[in-house]
Amino acid sequence: MSTPRRLLATLLLAGCSLACSALRHAGLQQTASASWFTVHARERATAERVLSECEALTPMVLAGPTAGAPFRVEIYCVPSDATYGEGRNLTEGEPELRHVSCIEIDIGRELVWERFIIAHELTHLWLAPEWNPLPQILEEGLADLAGMQADPEAAVCRRLVHGLRLLTWAGYEYPFRFERDGKQVSGSLGLGDPGPGLPGLAGMLELDGTSYHEVGGGQNESLLYSVGFALVNELGAPRLKELCARAAGEGRAQIPPDWILDAAGIARDANKSWGMIGLQLLGGPEQALLPHALLGEGPYHFTKD
Ligand SMILES: [Zn+2]
Repeated sequence: MSTPRRLLATLLLAGCSLACSALRHAGLQQTASASWFTVHARERATAERVLSECEALTPMVLAGPTAGAPFRVEIYCVPSDATYGEGRNLTEGEPELRHVSCIEIDIGRELVWERFIIAHELTHLWLAPEWNPLPQILEEGLADLAGMQADPEAAVCRRLVHGLRLLTWAGYEYPFRFERDGKQVSGSLGLGDPGPGLPGLAGMLELDGTSYHEVGGGQNESLLYSVGFALVNELGAPRLKELCARAAGEGRAQIPPDWILDAAGIARDANKSWGMIGLQLLGGPEQALLPHALLGEGPYHFTKD
C-alpha cells in the first residue's frame, strides 16, 4: 500500500458555547454530588464515575498555571453516538468574561478521552480572571496541556493530531512507513484540509469563546486548537500571563495578535513555517503511535464519526 491519505478525522472538540440546554439535559435523572461537583447522568454508574474522575483531577488542575479559586459546577453527562465524547463549558453573557453556567461531557461509546476532556474543561472552568485577556485559541492550548497532563497516552495522540494538522495546513504531507504482517506499508498522510472561511493567523487570535465556532466548519475549528496549542507550547504560561497583565494594564479586553506573534517570532503570513512547527510536535512516541492510529488499533486511533 502506498497512497496519499487525506483523513478528515475530528477526534474531539472541547470548547465553549452559549447557554445550558434544558432539552439536552432532560432524562439525566441520576445525580452524584461531592466537593465542587454535582454530576447528572442517565445512569448512576456514569454519574459516579465522572464525579470520581473530577475529584481525582481537581488537585492537578488547581495546581496548574491558570487556576483561580475553585467554585461549584453542575456537570451534565450527555449520551452520544460518537466513538469518543466531547466536552464543553457552557457560558452566558459577554464571552470575554467567561461566565460558566455548566459543563457538558458527551459520553461516547469509548471512554478513553474522558480524563483528558474533564481536565481540559475544568481548566476552562477555573481560569483565574487575570487570564481573561487571553485569546480563546490560546486558552484552548492551555486547557489541552492540562488534559495531556491528566492522560499521558491521550497526550501523545493529541500531539500527533496537532502536528499532522499543522503540517497539512502548511501544505505538506507526512511520509510514513511501517511493517505489518510481513508487508511494508508506506504512504504520506494529510490530516484535515482546512476549508473556506478559515481566518488568517491574526484573525484566529482575535476570536473569542463564541466566534471561534464560526470559522467555516469542524476542520477549520480543529485547526484553531492545533495553532493555539503550538503557540502555547512555544511561549509557555508565564510569558502569556505577562502579556495578559500588559493588556489589562492598557485597558484592552484581549491581547493584540501582534504581541503574541512577535513574542513567538512568527510572521503573520509565514504559513510554511507552520510545517516545521507541526513537525516538532511529532517526536518518537507520536511516530510510534501513528501506525496504530492509522489502522484503527488500540484505544487511541483516528476516527471518522
Ligand atoms: Zn476547550
